[in-house]
Amino acid sequence: MHKPASTLTLIARGLLHPAFPALIFLVFLGLATGLQYGIKKQDRSNLQENLDSQARLVAQRLEQNFLIHVEAIERMAQRMAEDPSTSQEHWSADARNYLEDFGVYQAIEWIDANYAIQWLEPMTGNEGVIGFNVAFSPERAAALKRSQQTGNLDISGVIDLKQGGKGLVIYAPVSSGSENNGFIAGVFKMDVLAGELLTPDATEHLQINILSDNDTAYQLNPGLHAKESFTSYADVDLPTLDWSLSVSPSSSWVNDQLSDWPQVTFMVMLFMGILTSLTTLLVQLILKRNQALLKTRRELDEEISQRQSVQQDLQRLETTDTLTGLANRRFFMEDLAHILSIADRQLRQVALIMIDLDRFQMLNDSLGHQFGDELLIKVSERLNDLSDERVIIGYSGGDEFMVCQQHVDSVDDVIFLLGQIKQCFQQEFDVQGQRHGITATMGVAVYPQSGLDADTLLRNADIALYRAKEQGRNTYQFYTEGMQDREVIRLELDKDISQALANDEFVLYFQPQLDLRDSSIKSVEALIRWQHPRRGMVPPVDFIPLAEESGRITDIGRWVVLAACKQLASWRNTPNENIRIAVNLSGRELDEEDIVDHIQEALESHGVPPELLEVELTEEIFIQNIEHNMNQLTRLHQLGVNLAIDDFGVGYSSLGYLRDFPVDLLKIDRSFITDVIDRHDDAVITRAVINLAHNLGIEVVAEGVETAEQLRFLKSHRCDLIQGYFISRPLPAAELEKALASGKLEYEVPVGS
Ligand code: C2E
Ligand code: MG
Ligand code: MG
Repeated sequence: MHKPASTLTLIARGLLHPAFPALIFLVFLGLATGLQYGIKKQDRSNLQENLDSQARLVAQRLEQNFLIHVEAIERMAQRMAEDPSTSQEHWSADARNYLEDFGVYQAIEWIDANYAIQWLEPMTGNEGVIGFNVAFSPERAAALKRSQQTGNLDISGVIDLKQGGKGLVIYAPVSSGSENNGFIAGVFKMDVLAGELLTPDATEHLQINILSDNDTAYQLNPGLHAKESFTSYADVDLPTLDWSLSVSPSSSWVNDQLSDWPQVTFMVMLFMGILTSLTTLLVQLILKRNQALLKTRRELDEEISQRQSVQQDLQRLETTDTLTGLANRRFFMEDLAHILSIADRQLRQVALIMIDLDRFQMLNDSLGHQFGDELLIKVSERLNDLSDERVIIGYSGGDEFMVCQQHVDSVDDVIFLLGQIKQCFQQEFDVQGQRHGITATMGVAVYPQSGLDADTLLRNADIALYRAKEQGRNTYQFYTEGMQDREVIRLELDKDISQALANDEFVLYFQPQLDLRDSSIKSVEALIRWQHPRRGMVPPVDFIPLAEESGRITDIGRWVVLAACKQLASWRNTPNENIRIAVNLSGRELDEEDIVDHIQEALESHGVPPELLEVELTEEIFIQNIEHNMNQLTRLHQLGVNLAIDDFGVGYSSLGYLRDFPVDLLKIDRSFITDVIDRHDDAVITRAVINLAHNLGIEVVAEGVETAEQLRFLKSHRCDLIQGYFISRPLPAAELEKALASGKLEYEVPVGS
């Protein structure tokens, strides 16, 4: 939806519109025209005034001069009236005086009462005029007659002179009425008169029309190119004449009078308009360019931020585990190293917690990888809730998580966090519509006590985790110096193992397995013990892993097989002669090419039927080096030896391999049996494993049975065999024989409970 544009935006848009510079230009053009018009008008009115005053001046001069001449002519007439006998000579002298005083006359004449010109001065230029009758038209005759009678002055108006050209005649009557003795006439040529009347300047620049009764009687300066639009009128007050003047200036005079200001103003304004609109255009272009730049800048910024987010995504992908969304192991370790360097400077402690989900692999295998993945995601979510600026959570792979806690002041801080982690597992997890209780085992190593670098800290947290697992599930262990001590002891033991074989310090204990189908003991598991000269009885967990690492396990294994065969041989022809002995074989032993040959030799040398010997192998053996192990196991099986999978459920294998390997027996790990009564999922797994094994034609042994309830549960779910302290602890051969003989190991299991 569009936002209504604000007034400011509208103004800005208007200012940037392409028509805006044109509008500015038009405004200036309007102003220029207006100003030009105003100034021109002012100029014209000045000019008109000027012309008017010129016209008045001309009229005044005309009036004044004319009156002077009139008076002079009248005076002459007066003198002739007073002296009618004036001689021609006398008159002529008088007239010449006048002519000298007023050079303007064409002629001064005496006209008799019958209107004929009798005397005149000067003769030159007026030769043919003597005798001419001036009453040449009825109007003239009437006017002269009137003048004779009244004694008033008569002026001819502009007439065509007998001498040629236009002229004007003033008739002053000599006496009036019957005494009239003609007229004294003053003849003026119009151009001479005008030359007399006008200033040279006016003569040059003005065209003057003498209007008599509104008709042009005479035009002065007819050749002048006059501007009639500037014509000015002035009345001329003369006796007997109704005259007025029209004065028109020449173009050049008009041009002189008119100033250049209108044009200059117009041009200046026009120039300013062009300049302003060009400047506006320029500013618009700059602003538009700026806008375009800003837009490009914004687009660039957008692209940069997009790239940055892609980079961040890539970084996140590199640093996080895709399934759980937590920091992956590599990134977590980098982070840990960084955190340790800071902690080193700040003299603070850092805790590293390794978390291992109990029995995850079993759930994963029995309920599917999809299930396992979903469970891992749920666990990650809960653990991630604990992360804050002090706590970082990472995923190590498999079912292992890593937690780093910074700013640790005391061990209580770590214990508090461990409690919080434990809380995460308090509630069951809802996966694929079913609720599953999961627990976790944790190992903790604290910087700097338990390691000064990330790798050492991790190794020691792993040792602590390993110890915690040894103690059972759902617990935690701090790495301690003691563990280090134990490592030392382990190293010592490792050294002692070779001596032990030579000194015959190993001994086999036997733990019976109860067949639930007929409550009989048909088999026992041989479990090795080390009677150490100084340390006393050492359990296998303390030296078997060491022996596996050092490779001495092969010698031990050979010894065990021989000892078992020896035991079987000794039972020959006794009530125990059908009892089968199961021996534990480690992965390293199976690597030995001649292991099968050795077992065969051992059996043959003691004359023991192969079916009395069973070999227990942990799950890992089945997934490591599959081809080779498959080959070895097949050979063993062909020999007639029974094969059992030990500690089933805690390893990392998949159930699929059961189909491919020649397996006779499956031993459910003790950890499932311990809580089989209390924990629903343990019960589910146990049931599932029993059913699966049976479907594949494999017998099932439950390990670690310690209570009657467990026994009843297993019996009711058709578990074939059980082994555990409830029946018997592992016993030396002599004690086992006694127990078997006494029959106290043969439990009658209540049916249907
Ligand atoms: P494993 O083969 O699973 O042996 C069963 C272990 O569970 C034995 O511990 C046994 O004493 C213990 N156990 C049996 N019933 C119960 C019970 O009801 N409750 C409890 N809490 N424990 C019970 P042991 O003898 O300490 O052996 C530990 C492991 O050492 C064995 O586990 C096996 O993996 C290994 N091992 C023992 N003897 C040998 C051997 O001769 N060769 C090899 N390679 N490994 C051996
Ligand atoms: Mg075993
Ligand atoms: Mg076992």
